[in-house]
Amino acid sequence: MPLLLLDLDNTLLDRAGAFQVWATDFLTRIGAPRAELDWLLDVDADGLTNRWDVAEAIKDRYRLRTPSIDLVEELHDGIVERTRLDPLVACALRIAADAGWVPVAVSNGATRQQEAKIRHTGLDRYLADWVISEEAGVSKPNPRIFAIAAERARMRLNGAWMVGDSPEADIGGANALGLPSVWLHRGRRWSEPRYAPTRTADGPLDALAAVFDEHSGHRWPVNGRSHQGHDRGPDRGPERHQVGRIR
Ligand SMILES: [Mg+2]
Repeated sequence: MPLLLLDLDNTLLDRAGAFQVWATDFLTRIGAPRAELDWLLDVDADGLTNRWDVAEAIKDRYRLRTPSIDLVEELHDGIVERTRLDPLVACALRIAADAGWVPVAVSNGATRQQEAKIRHTGLDRYLADWVISEEAGVSKPNPRIFAIAAERARMRLNGAWMVGDSPEADIGGANALGLPSVWLHRGRRWSEPRYAPTRTADGPLDALAAVFDEHSGHRWPVNGRSHQGHDRGPDRGPERHQVGRIR
């Protein structure tokens, strides 16, 4: 039974999409032009900027008298409420679980925010467990957080796959442990010369299909035909074996 380690934001859940919807609503509410969206996206930096700093920057730019704590709360609740689980991603996770994979989310972020997203979207029903860096006390790419994920699922890291959109945190983390990985490119080019993902994908469904395809010896059908992974021959090694039957 292989362990399937999955990043949360912009991998399993479209966090960027949720932020964009919130930001557009927010700009309308305060009467700011829509062109300000780019500035908000910049300040947010895919959620990596501290929420208090985002709140302060917004207050300064639009001369708002809203208390910072209220804006921080709004940033939290607004994103959670607008985050949706793609039913096809849920379906792919169910298929993975039926085939014997153990999906565990590994996320860098605040425990309250990340858990709220996991539960609000119903993603909790499709995961064996999850690890959030704040509660774990360690962040990706530190190998310790992946070890914690394996411990929680009572699995070995050996044989696990990592799927994520961050070159450093997700693919760098997998690389440090010698694990195969799939990178969601989100329109970016791979630019890290020291390591590379095993496969690159357009989105979460494509990424999961790539994992199943690699693991099953390219027998996983993609668009009704068997897909050959780039630069990999059909006889890669003795570790290959078929994924369990999909019911
Ligand atoms: Mg991510």
